[in-house]
Amino acid sequence: MKFSVEKLVQGSCRLGVLRDVGKLKNQTVETPFCLLYTRGGSVPNLSNDTLGYVQDLPPVALMPLNVLAEHHETVQEYGKGIAEFTVMKDFLVCCTMQDPCTAAPSGYNDKTSVALWGRSGKMKVDPELFVKVQEAFQPDWFQCLGDADTCKTSSKKRTKKAVDNTLNFLDEILSKRKSSQTLQKMALFGSIGGGFSQFERERSAKETVARNVEGFALEGFQNDGEEFCQFGDKDFVDILSLTLKHLPEDKPRMMCAVLRPDVVLQAVRAGIDIFDTSYAYAATEKGHALVFDYNYHTPSEEVKDSDETKMSTPATESGFTINLGDKKYRDDFGPLLAGCKCFTCKTNTRAYINHLNNVTELQQGILLMIHNLHHYLGFFSALRQSLREDKFDQLEALIAQQKPHSPDR
Ligand SMILES: [Zn+2]
Repeated sequence: MKFSVEKLVQGSCRLGVLRDVGKLKNQTVETPFCLLYTRGGSVPNLSNDTLGYVQDLPPVALMPLNVLAEHHETVQEYGKGIAEFTVMKDFLVCCTMQDPCTAAPSGYNDKTSVALWGRSGKMKVDPELFVKVQEAFQPDWFQCLGDADTCKTSSKKRTKKAVDNTLNFLDEILSKRKSSQTLQKMALFGSIGGGFSQFERERSAKETVARNVEGFALEGFQNDGEEFCQFGDKDFVDILSLTLKHLPEDKPRMMCAVLRPDVVLQAVRAGIDIFDTSYAYAATEKGHALVFDYNYHTPSEEVKDSDETKMSTPATESGFTINLGDKKYRDDFGPLLAGCKCFTCKTNTRAYINHLNNVTELQQGILLMIHNLHHYLGFFSALRQSLREDKFDQLEALIAQQKPHSPDR
């Protein structure tokens, strides 16, 4: 994997390009971009067929190990890796440790292993087992085994231990990689932890940079699977910015978490390149549709008859989403979002989704997921465009106007 920053905007926002990622030898992936969030090897709510309704899908699927690791022996026997084994064979695969949407119970990691929580309970993963899992799964890149069991209230002792454990795991896995041809083909991202301790974050960053890794995964800010609402606070932005200053410019930085659009922009401003689509799934699970406006062009800048979606955000509400389960949408025969070009908005109404919500129909999850994925990916496309056009400030101001009063919207 090769990475280069093509343009640096306002000192820290990076418009970059990933090259030579796994089997995508002659293609490039522009950053900032989103990995396609999956759970148990598929996009939640969508089959291969219904996933086809979403245009411009990212080329890389995010596969957290917590659910999948317990199946590594079956995948090993199958012999063709996790992408072929699941329905994601047209995608590259990035394996990370924890599912951004699932709470990882605290207090189960130690200096020899990390606890993963799958469908059949806890699985202790040490470096040896971790290497076996990666050899069976054959992802195109993976996040190294790391202890991310920290949050804002973690003690100094726990935070230091988590960083020590993570560095020791990295050393052991780098040593095992020397004798594994399978692992040598994959890009390895070192985990940078340290909770909300600036000292530990900087130590984690400096020590990880000194090792032979192809990129960095920022984690350990929150371990309860909730949206990172407090990521809007100053502590997070300051710590993230200071941490990223220690990382080399020519290696990508990934942060997989349920991130609202305003927090994504803060992370991009700090220098993060790779995100994931778990926010679209988290909204779908609540019966919410993403409706925030990301068309940052002023009316005079808009090209007439362009293909660009003209979105309309409900003027009376704040927030990035609307709750389609609310009875006020019972007789609303408009699309989920006016101007949206997704399959769901072209063929369905808010009233219909509201009806499906009331009868707890599975189809609601499918239709909402198609719209929410389309919208979140569209936001990332607008984000890259804003960096290209030097209009990141305009996008930031537009998103800030829509920031919710209530944290879950
Ligand atoms: Zn739509």
